[in-house]
Amino acid sequence: MAGMGVRGRRVAEERDLASLERIGAHSHICGLGVDEARSALSDIPFISQGLVGQQEARKAASVVVKMVRAGMIGGRAVLLAGPPGSGKTALAMGMAQALGDSTPFVKLSASEIFSNEISKTEALSQSLRRAIGVKIREETEIIEGEVVEIQIDRPLAGGVAHLGSSGKLTLKTTEMETIYDLGEKMVNALAKEKVSSGDVIAIDKGTGKVSKRGRSFARSRDYDAIGASTKFVHCPDGELQKKKEVQHVVSLHEIDVINSRQQGFLALFAGDTGEIKKEVREQIDSKVSEWIEEGKAEIVPGVLFIDEVHMLDIECFSFINRAIEGDLAPLLIMATNRGIAQIRGTNFRSPHGIPLDLLDRLLIIMTKPYSEKEMREILTLRCVEEDIAIADAAMDLLTKIAEEASLRYAMYLLTTSALTCAKRRAEKVDVEDVKRCYSIFLDVKRSTHFLHEYQKEYLFNEVDDADADAD
Ligand code: ATP
Repeated sequence: MAGMGVRGRRVAEERDLASLERIGAHSHICGLGVDEARSALSDIPFISQGLVGQQEARKAASVVVKMVRAGMIGGRAVLLAGPPGSGKTALAMGMAQALGDSTPFVKLSASEIFSNEISKTEALSQSLRRAIGVKIREETEIIEGEVVEIQIDRPLAGGVAHLGSSGKLTLKTTEMETIYDLGEKMVNALAKEKVSSGDVIAIDKGTGKVSKRGRSFARSRDYDAIGASTKFVHCPDGELQKKKEVQHVVSLHEIDVINSRQQGFLALFAGDTGEIKKEVREQIDSKVSEWIEEGKAEIVPGVLFIDEVHMLDIECFSFINRAIEGDLAPLLIMATNRGIAQIRGTNFRSPHGIPLDLLDRLLIIMTKPYSEKEMREILTLRCVEEDIAIADAAMDLLTKIAEEASLRYAMYLLTTSALTCAKRRAEKVDVEDVKRCYSIFLDVKRSTHFLHEYQKEYLFNEVDDADADAD
């Protein structure tokens, strides 16, 4: 039994490790690989930051990144169009990396818009508002008193309450939790305390209990330990002045949810936000505009990336047409691998299955099919990413397979071949490993061929021979 226990534990540990080490399909990408100081197309390296080839598309994407940084995104949208596996999502990931963590980047597949819980347009509205950040300098008016400073337990959870000469006390904090939860505890606790100019007060984050720390605390080491973003200095006139600004970025959608009485902020964790009333959004928009005018907040426009955009229908397209022109709209980047296709919800066909009036508003970036050299380099990057050693001959074979079948199929074969290689305790993936996996996993061409041959054996076989031949 004891042995079983250890084995069970080991399996659990292995499972934990596997989830930690899981490698995403685009994890090798860390930017667009475009040096912004050099503007010529010929300056773009063949491989950089995990991206290979597609120089024109990378150049165009870097211009879009510049537009986002400059805030020039109102009423604009971008379409990444190209054959399957030609790097559209890879390019979008590169753009997200180039924009950095401070720019909201929301990614979804068009089919996620369709659910039973909320309407398509509501799902689109929520996604658009998730991609708009609001940088807030928090100042909440609470009670009357004098200059006090509050430190909540740990450096990161710091906050400052400041009473100006006019008798107004302002609470400044660094944490959402503090604002929405501890704020009230502080107000109650402070109301009971007698505080005077220069007092420093500590508040326990868990219990909300307040204790006076005396003025010398402001000159002590503990005071210095308050996080960089919460350091303040006392000015001669008794005012508190910030050394660094206390800011945090929340999305418009988060503000909507927090202020929607129906859901409350816990819905943010459950993910079940339901429909948000139009009036709530209007109130939030006017409140945010007020904050902007008062200098308390600024908008951080981000990016909404919708993959497989041809899956949207005509209602969604007309909603998008209008939505991208709103004052608080993020940059919309869409991707599709469709050619001339039917617009869902209509009997009409159009390029990429997108209505012409929306197409007319888009900046279109094309990705091209890869050459043999490019495919080989992408596969080599994946070897590094997945920590796979591979013999040259096996890489030659995989590249050939990528050309004949698809790059994605070759990537799957790479991963599965590494497993067969490990099973035979060899150090390098060899031609035999690739051949073995090629024989047990079919690519689309062989699978279709197999289907044509055996279609009569399948249930619900509705494709007649003429259709099958046309395929
Ligand atoms: P689809 O139309 O089928 O959605 P896609 O054009 O979005 O395809 P990706 O998913 O971006 O294709 O590419 C397939 C795989 O190849 C991914 O793992 C991606 O990271 C990688 N890849 C594609 N292009 C490049 C590139 N230029 N450089 C590095 N990796 C790439």
